Order: sequence, then C-alpha cells, then structure tokens
Amino acid sequence: MHIHDVVVAGFGSSGISLAAAIDYHDDAHQGTGPLDAVHLERSATSAWQPNQVLPGTDIQHHFLRDLATPRDPRSRFSFTNFLMQSGRFYPFTLLGGYVSRLEWSEYVQWAAAQVRKQAEYHREVLRSSPSPTPTAPSALRG
Ligand SMILES: Cc1cc2nc3c(=O)[nH]c(=O)nc-3n(C[C@H](O)[C@H](O)[C@H](O)COP(=O)(O)OP(=O)(O)OC[C@H]3O[C@@H](n4cnc5c(N)ncnc54)[C@H](O)[C@@H]3O)c2cc1C
Repeated sequence: MHIHDVVVAGFGSSGISLAAAIDYHDDAHQGTGPLDAVHLERSATSAWQPNQVLPGTDIQHHFLRDLATPRDPRSRFSFTNFLMQSGRFYPFTLLGGYVSRLEWSEYVQWAAAQVRKQAEYHREVLRSSPSPTPTAPSALRG
C-alpha cells in the first residue's frame, strides 16, 4: 500500500491554495525532496462555482484575498500575477478593480494549472477516516 504525505480531496479554491503552499514548501526544503502529495477532484475541471457564474455578477470579496496573497503577497499564484500573465493588468486597474465571477473562475483554473503537482480529475474521494497512528509527513520530520 502506498501511503502519501498529503491527500487532498477536492481541487477547488482550498485544494489549489494548499497545492501552491506545498510548492513553496518544496522549494524551501529541496534537501529533503518534495512532499508526496496527491490531489483528487471529482469534477472534470477546477471551475469556480460553475453554476453561479452568471453574466453581470461579481465576486463578494476583495481580490487581494485570493489563493495566495494572504499567505505571501509576492506569490506567483496571486490574482495580480494572473492579470499580468493574461495581459489584463492595465485594463483591470483602469476600470477600478471590479472582478466578475467569470474572471475569478478563470483565475482559479489558471492557478490550478500553475501548481507543480497537477490534480487527478474525475477522481472522487469516497471515504476518509482518522489514522490510528498519525505521523508527520516525511519531509517535515526532524
Ligand atoms: C452561492 C455562493 C457564492 C459564493 N461567493 C463567494 C464569493 O464571491 N467570494 C468568496 O470568497 N466566497 C464565495 N463563496 C464561498 C465559496 O465556498 C468559496 O469561494 C470557495 O469556493 C470555497 O473553496 P473550497 O475549495 O473550500 O470549496 P469549492 O470551491 O466548493 O471546491 C471544492 C471542490 O472539491 C470537489 N469535491 C467535493 N467533494 C469531493 C470528493 N469527495 N472527492 C473529490 N472531489 C470533491 C468539488 O468538486 C470542488 O471542485 C460563495 C459560496 C456560494 C455557495
């Protein structure tokens, strides 16, 4: 049986944010090797709330509260980096910072594609249970 360091159920905002943090962890701990993480997502994509992306609707939070900025304002996974990479930074700042739900969903999917360990889509977690002998991930030990 293969025991992973980290198993993430769902590759929505939380799962992607965690995957980004794992990338940073691995960068900072190259001597111990990367964490053995697996991300399982039951849907075909990481589209953010696909049933709620209606024309003319916007997000209900400040865009700086994205998948990475609160943890590291210089993160490559930030919404501002997404704007820069997609050539939308200057139009966005001219328009005053309005973010549509469609644009946020595009950002979430962009971030999902940036992380090193890609999610396995069409994989549903059917059960989880607490480990009787919890152990720290190998790369975090010591
Ligand atoms: C109507 C509505 C509007 C909202 N608007 C905002 C907003 O504007 N701004 C804001 O900050 N928050 C908003 N939220 C809160 C929203 O929950 C968060 O923005 C964010 O989507 C939460 O991320 P998450 O990863 O926890 O959950 P989700 O985005 O729901 O992602 C969970 C993922 O896990 C997958 N999954 C679930 N179960 C399994 C399983 N057993 N196996 C494998 N995969 C699984 C799902 O397919 C999904 O992709 C809104 C919520 C609702 C309901």
